[in-house]
Amino acid sequence: MSNKEKSAILLIYTGGTIGMKESGQGLVPFDFSQILSEVPELQKFTFKIDSYTFDPLIDSSDVEPAMWKELSVLIKEKYDDYDGFVVLHGTDTMAYSASALSFMLDGLAKPVIFTGSQLPVGSLRTDGKENLVSAIEVAAAKDDRGRAMVPEVAIYFNSQLLRGNRATKVNATAFDAFRSPNCPPLAEAGIRIRYNKALIRYPSSVVPLAIHTRLDTRVAILKVHPGITEQVARNVLLGSGIRAVIIETYGSGNAISKPWFTDIIRESVGSGKILLNITQCLAGDVNMNLYATGKALKEAGVVSGSDITTEGGLAKLFVLMGEYADNEKVKRLLEKNLKGEISK
Ligand code: ASP
Repeated sequence: MSNKEKSAILLIYTGGTIGMKESGQGLVPFDFSQILSEVPELQKFTFKIDSYTFDPLIDSSDVEPAMWKELSVLIKEKYDDYDGFVVLHGTDTMAYSASALSFMLDGLAKPVIFTGSQLPVGSLRTDGKENLVSAIEVAAAKDDRGRAMVPEVAIYFNSQLLRGNRATKVNATAFDAFRSPNCPPLAEAGIRIRYNKALIRYPSSVVPLAIHTRLDTRVAILKVHPGITEQVARNVLLGSGIRAVIIETYGSGNAISKPWFTDIIRESVGSGKILLNITQCLAGDVNMNLYATGKALKEAGVVSGSDITTEGGLAKLFVLMGEYADNEKVKRLLEKNLKGEISK
């Protein structure tokens, strides 16, 4: 298709504040067939915009991996009919869902743009209209060779387009709710949308879209903190029914140097669990060679998460563990940059 030809976009509404209205008893989702009366601006687009509504609509705090599967299957089914997809989603777990889709969709050559808002789209001061309209524009954008401008899973929010598996929600109330501290925006919207083409990942060859819907969710997250007890560390790191633990460490990947902690780590790795080190800091990366407290983790067999977000690490583990029974293979792939989720 040349860039002169018209795009067709599928708007997928999963729930969240953007599609809610005041009912007198709090915010409730509105019937999405009314979207044109809530956002008449959509009629100004000259291309086709179809919509698909999830049933039930959810507050994204209730998102489950089953919903990611439904979303991936839907995108796969509709892939040839549309040039891009816009997913309306609650902000609370948007970074988790965008991360998950980035690993679940393989060979993506079309945009999958998540957006939402802090205020319902029908409210006077809403941020939802700009987010929705610009997300559609990004999903439909083509370069001068007629290829999708952003063939990635991304989040459009408050004038910025962020790589989905790099983003994190940083503000519960401001319109400026998302950041990707370790990766510059893929695009920024002012009077024009400026794309950072050097950063956007374009497929090297055209392959059919494949989806990975087998997810293994046996992952726990342990945030180290002063005062953490041996019992808590033991329960998580040696817990049954847990195949992998994300250890959220201090600074550049440091944890407690006390022998009891290192012993539990060794025992956990020895028992076959995958331990992934992700920093609690918003920006920067894990370097387990810097301090003795980090070195001990490396020597025990903990895998470096580099500069991945916790949302990205969790999604990557779910997908890799769902694909591979061999933990050593999962560990090797965790250290590789698969979908732009780490900087190396
Ligand atoms: N709790 C809502 C959700 O994540 C908040 C929002 O939509 O922004 O679904």
